Amino acid sequence: MAKKKITNPWDQCKKCLPAKCCTYFALEVDEPEDRKDFEAMLWQIAHKGVSFYIYRKAWYIMVDSVCEFLTPENKCGIYETRPYICKEHSIDSCEYTDGDYGFTEHFKSYDELLAWIKENTNFRFKDRHKTEEPSKSKVRSLKSALG
Ligand code: SF4
Ligand code: SF4
Repeated sequence: MAKKKITNPWDQCKKCLPAKCCTYFALEVDEPEDRKDFEAMLWQIAHKGVSFYIYRKAWYIMVDSVCEFLTPENKCGIYETRPYICKEHSIDSCEYTDGDYGFTEHFKSYDELLAWIKENTNFRFKDRHKTEEPSKSKVRSLKSALG
């Protein structure tokens, strides 16, 4: 389907609160290969605002974090000198107008990534919700230590 041409970009950006394109960044990362790589990714995604996605076979880490130049009026505070990455950003196919980026996968939580690892690799990690019950002998020795 052809994308709708935006005639007045600011009209659209006014509705996008806060400006979606200014509230995250993403970087390509090495494709995970071994258990250590996946363990590191699980640790990273356990941090608030971190997600991973796969796009055209490449892996990316995405971090939700608002650019400090985004003003309370939802405008770029350094518009004239904004970096090239912002200048090249197309409003015609931006995060607000086009939610589908053609990601093969987008892992938005620890559990989503863990489920994918279980399904697609031989690496096994404990489910984070399962905490070990203390053994009866441990409880007994704790009680006797406390008197
Ligand atoms: S995501 Fe699109 S609509 Fe929202 S501020 Fe950025 S360019 Fe404007
Ligand atoms: S520099 Fe401006 S356009 Fe770029 S992310 Fe920050 S507020 Fe948005």
